[in-house]
Amino acid sequence: MEVESSPGKVHAAIREARRRGLTIGCVPTMGALHAGHVSLVQRARSENDFVVATIFVNPTQFGPTEDFSRYPRTLDTDLEQCRGAGANLVFTPQVSDMYAADAETIVRVTGLSTVLEGAHRPGHFDGVTTVVTKLFQITEPDRAYFGQKDYQQQLIIRRMVQDLNIPVTIVTCPIIREADGLAMSSRNRYLSPEERGIAAEIFQALQLADRLAVGSAVSPREIAERMRAHLEGTGGLSVQYAVVADTQTLASQETRIPGASGVALIAAKLGTTRLIDNQILNYSVAE
Ligand code: AMP
Repeated sequence: MEVESSPGKVHAAIREARRRGLTIGCVPTMGALHAGHVSLVQRARSENDFVVATIFVNPTQFGPTEDFSRYPRTLDTDLEQCRGAGANLVFTPQVSDMYAADAETIVRVTGLSTVLEGAHRPGHFDGVTTVVTKLFQITEPDRAYFGQKDYQQQLIIRRMVQDLNIPVTIVTCPIIREADGLAMSSRNRYLSPEERGIAAEIFQALQLADRLAVGSAVSPREIAERMRAHLEGTGGLSVQYAVVADTQTLASQETRIPGASGVALIAAKLGTTRLIDNQILNYSVAE
């Protein structure tokens, strides 16, 4: 496994792999890797000849009051995990390798980026789409791997590659969870032991939504209300949103259509830590 911080050298290494006829899989991350990230690298390994993982804490996707400077940086163990999962190359640029001081260009997905996460984190998705475009330019992957954990993010990336004719297939991978259901996240390490106990209630609220979708005639609007009530009944959680939305447009879903699906999405703060999670809902029963 090679480790390289220069965009030019990574581009050259990937061009060389392509010249040899290898297919390229790319896994963008911000490091502080856990089993969720590892599952993406493993999936990429199983579907491509050459796997490049990227580790870059991207400043442009953090708001001014967010945790950029204290975001966990654990490069040595990250590299071990990439090696164990079968990465061929890890791209570890510095901020100055990715952004010229006089850079003026951003990539923006206009509609989808303004709701839910975008409403609570203004500018966040502009940072994501700009850096992912740059990573795609540098690594020219056949396939790129994203987690369902960041549901809105993978939807926005799909929109972006379609709109900009970027020749890459986006693969969305399942959410990897702790034993009690808490979605793995690099930010979970910020939680105190007491907060860590409460955090699993987010998964419990999503499980409640899942049960209501499958086994009752409750409307999506009421499912969302029941999720919110569950979360608000849990001391310590401050709910930013708890919604049931269309899986493609993220518009709030009002009525259930048997055989169709929706997505339950939650963002909540626990102390200073912001957590997100989601669950696809399959409606088996009419309203
Ligand atoms: P991050 O390092 O937080 O930017 O995440 C890098 C990639 O890993 C993103 O595509 C995330 O959606 C994905 N990811 C993060 N947590 C999980 C998880 N628990 N299960 C699956 N994928 C995840």
